[in-house]
Amino acid sequence: MQKRLKTLAETLGADIVGFCKLRKTVAGFAYAVSIGVKLSDATLKTIDTAPSFMYFQHYRTANTLLDTIAFRISREIEKAGFAAMPIAASQSLGKNNPYQGVLPHKTAAVLSGLGFVGKSGLFLSTSYGSKVRLATVLTDMPVENELPVIKNGCGSCTLCKNACPAGAIFGELPQENERNFDPEKCSRYMKEHFQDIGRGSVCGICIKVCPKNKL
Ligand code: SF4
Ligand code: SF4
Repeated sequence: MQKRLKTLAETLGADIVGFCKLRKTVAGFAYAVSIGVKLSDATLKTIDTAPSFMYFQHYRTANTLLDTIAFRISREIEKAGFAAMPIAASQSLGKNNPYQGVLPHKTAAVLSGLGFVGKSGLFLSTSYGSKVRLATVLTDMPVENELPVIKNGCGSCTLCKNACPAGAIFGELPQENERNFDPEKCSRYMKEHFQDIGRGSVCGICIKVCPKNKL
């Protein structure tokens, strides 16, 4: 079944797919399928000291693609007799919890051995660095981890911290259950400075500068 789900996800456009048992249940689910799509190199190059319209539109398209893949994966799992819940690529629990979703996608991606969380707070895939967007499918279908969890590989680099115009990146390795960047500062800066592009919902500078991307 895992092989079938992976093939389906890849056929639909996923660039990375992983499976994991969660450390604790989330919304009653013990397992997760992590899905990622790679962003366009050429589009990321259009980000300079501010995001571009091309990046904003590309970001939204990537989210739509991920949501479609997660939806189809969920249906396949349901057809096999298990429960599944697709978690949208761009998730929020509403006004009172704007920076939190059901489960951070990067948590499932890391547990699936697809990469690690960088000092930027972004997920860095072993194949594409931070040039990926993620979605997750929660399920009660037992799946097996195919890859070991990877250690953070940022080393002494602090390029994302230095480049962040909001001062939102602490420049530290992520600690369990603790954020290594300030999402409120990041969001406030985007809303104040990039309002004309997607009403301040994207930036992308920390993605652009990361040397793990090999742009
Ligand atoms: S998206 Fe922009 S403002 Fe937010 S952390 Fe990254 S560089 Fe800083
Ligand atoms: S820019 Fe450097 S420190 Fe930041 S996430 Fe990338 S490798 Fe890690």
